[in-house]
Amino acid sequence: MRKKTLRDIEIAGRKILMRVDFNVPLTKDGDIADDTRIRAALESIDFAAKKGASVILMSHLGRPKGAVDPALSLKVVAYRLGELISHPVRFIEACIGEEVEKKAASLAPGEVLLLENVRFYEGETKNDQVFARQLARLGDCFSNDAFGTAHRAHASTEGVAHLFDDRVAGFLMERELEVLEGLLAEPERPFVAVLGGAKVSGKIGLVKNLLDRVDRIVIGGGMAYTFFKAVGLEVGRSLVDEEYIPLCRELMEKAGSGKERQIFLPVDCIVASEADNDVPHKTVSTGDIPEDWIGVDIGEKTIEVFKEELVRARTVFWNGPMGIFEMPNYAGGTRKIAKVIADITEEGVMTVVGGGDSVAALNQLHLADKVTHVSTGGGASLELLEGKKLPGVEVLNDSG
Ligand code: ADP
Ligand code: MG
Repeated sequence: MRKKTLRDIEIAGRKILMRVDFNVPLTKDGDIADDTRIRAALESIDFAAKKGASVILMSHLGRPKGAVDPALSLKVVAYRLGELISHPVRFIEACIGEEVEKKAASLAPGEVLLLENVRFYEGETKNDQVFARQLARLGDCFSNDAFGTAHRAHASTEGVAHLFDDRVAGFLMERELEVLEGLLAEPERPFVAVLGGAKVSGKIGLVKNLLDRVDRIVIGGGMAYTFFKAVGLEVGRSLVDEEYIPLCRELMEKAGSGKERQIFLPVDCIVASEADNDVPHKTVSTGDIPEDWIGVDIGEKTIEVFKEELVRARTVFWNGPMGIFEMPNYAGGTRKIAKVIADITEEGVMTVVGGGDSVAALNQLHLADKVTHVSTGGGASLELLEGKKLPGVEVLNDSG
């Protein structure tokens, strides 16, 4: 279902309450380590301000757990935002109350006001109705551009939206929904998913839903070892989610065997004596993992097998590093698969990457602009691809 966007409502002269995702990483000194998320929201803010709306922005930052934590103030973000846009940016150290209402009401068209971290209030994550009503007083229409938190029914993402007739998606939200829902609806085939990362537990719903929709899933990373266990292979001291072994077995059976099988597991892997960069490590065939060793990356043969599937694909979704990529000795699999995905993008393949660590890996390799779409929403994009409804999206006006 398509959602209305900022383009579909009258905004000139109105006060737009806009949820954005300014949950930026901070350095130890409290500076902004990476302003990607602020830049990602600029299009919506600029559009609204240029059209003559006053824009009241709300966001969370970190996990202050319902209490004021000066280290997680959005003030630093307000400064940075002011540098990035040409409209005046104001900041207020609260989200609700008389002062805030006065300030919001006094905004001129084209002015922007950033509220303090919404998670300084207990009511935010509890989706408290009273808190939502207090927030709603600040604007006369609502826009949500915080795709990254759309899977949470919080006061500023969901509760508050119900209180407006006009509740629409921002442009970042619009683009994320278009791309990710497009993957589920009408992908150009073959459609190959590359999955990896740490634990099966967080990804099993994804494997399950994608099995019905993709042509193939290639699985690397820590996830692979629970699948190996499920088919009776020894995995030494590799990462295994014992309780998911039966479900993995079921999925393996569903995926079939032989040439037409849907799930491809690594044929070799790099094993290390410890999960540490500077210890003995070597490549072994899957099935030959020594008892005391730990699988830390996919091997060269596996990279070739995965590559063969990727170069035949027309659509690719990637989530989860292929190994412990934070350790240089075990980053090769992730690096080479990322490179293949960048190369096929150049050949016209639609490539989508989602997940916090996968996107971090892509950034580290300077390949983020070499894929079709980098999803800014880690958990939200995975839940959407799992087939779940996102409360922050559901609540928005349907278009037409
Ligand atoms: P994303 O954030 O992209 O969804 P995850 O959070 O699921 O990815 O997984 C990322 C983590 O998985 C990384 O910290 C990486 O070190 C870890 N990982 C990858 N392969 C392995 C492995 N073989 N054993 C243990 N951890 C692994
Ligand atoms: Mg992660």
